[in-house]
Amino acid sequence: TSSEVAELRAAFPYFATLDAQPEPPAYLDAAATSQRPTAVLDAERHFLETANAAVHRGTSGAVGAATAAFEGARARVAAFVGAAAPEQIVWAENATDALNIVALGIGEASAGAALGVPGSERFALGPGDEILVTEAEHHANLIPWQRLAARTGATFRYIPVREDGTWTLDDAREALNTRTRIFAFAHVSNATGYVAPVAELAELARSVGAITVLDACQSVPHMPVDLDALGVDFAAFSGHKMLGPNGIGVLYGRPELLAALPPSRTGGSAITKVTMESAQFMPPPMRFEPGTQPVSQAVGLGAAVEFLEGVGMERAAAREHELVERLVEGISATPGLRLLGPADPSQRIALTSVVVEGLHAHDVGQFLDEQGVLVRVGHHCAQPLHRALGITSSTRASVHLTTTEDEVDRFLDALRGAQRYFGVEAAA
Ligand code: PMP
Repeated sequence: TSSEVAELRAAFPYFATLDAQPEPPAYLDAAATSQRPTAVLDAERHFLETANAAVHRGTSGAVGAATAAFEGARARVAAFVGAAAPEQIVWAENATDALNIVALGIGEASAGAALGVPGSERFALGPGDEILVTEAEHHANLIPWQRLAARTGATFRYIPVREDGTWTLDDAREALNTRTRIFAFAHVSNATGYVAPVAELAELARSVGAITVLDACQSVPHMPVDLDALGVDFAAFSGHKMLGPNGIGVLYGRPELLAALPPSRTGGSAITKVTMESAQFMPPPMRFEPGTQPVSQAVGLGAAVEFLEGVGMERAAAREHELVERLVEGISATPGLRLLGPADPSQRIALTSVVVEGLHAHDVGQFLDEQGVLVRVGHHCAQPLHRALGITSSTRASVHLTTTEDEVDRFLDALRGAQRYFGVEAAA
């Protein structure tokens, strides 16, 4: 209800500040970055004021307490995404970094296999092997795989998108074959909001022996996600899109795969034994966490997860489905607006992107900004998707559990206002 949303908004200093303005702006850019509730800001501050120390280094009680907070956050995140063990959660800088840890690690394994390094076989790629992605990917889940293919001689392939920017289980079935070694795709597209059928896709990939890498950036903040149950091998997401701090992201992995993946970045504290000639690495997750880690950010992310659990992800998803439905209906009912992604709101979550026929998205963005509607315009780091749809940019409104109906309506009104202002209204 609207009073529940108002109560939730009050838990966010950012929204309290917005809402105190005479004409509060509408924040519809959570897909780019979300705001942090007081509980998260307090957890970071409290940790820094009372417990900050160099985790996993030394034996003092202070280090022990800081390490307990850091590892407690890991356990909390693990439970939140259905990982049976905290060791399945590796801290990274963000989702981009997490995806790179996998792609670069496979590159290391491939180079190692060529030199006969024992244990490299599990991940070794070479000519004849295939890496499969989709045309809808965010650049973060695209470029690392392009480079891995170039580095190993593997063939890079992609599932093309359909006219609405989506792709289907059947498209994947057609593209996957026994040469496919890696299948990387987004759970929820950051450009179309399309929710992929992950469990079925992971099973398909497994049946041909491919490793699945899930970009879960836009799903984990918006819906219940049980990665163990979905059956994916690796997954990546970012703290700053799920009410947590920036500077921290997560790589999830199956234990046996994390244990076999070479660390692509090395250095202090990730090792068991170092000589002048060589190094031996700790088991996961620490083998992937060399150097000083984002400790207060991890603590903050733990608090963000606690906050989301308090709201309940089923409830958050149901709420967001209502908002997305309202967006889809409003866009579909307005001539001259082209909706990207599925017309059926039940196949989407979190966001809608739209093209205002006859206008460049940057003109739309400027007009919306003047109306106090904060959205993202451009290609949203998905240039190939936009190119496939015959456009260069779009206007994206993204929602979260704090978004109000009024904000959605102001976005829709502002789009119609832009049509009138620039004289591009279409006949009904
Ligand atoms: N994948 C998707 C689907 C995203 O939406 C984003 C963020 N726009 C990323 C990857 C990259 O996330 P980050 O910038 O936090 O690394």
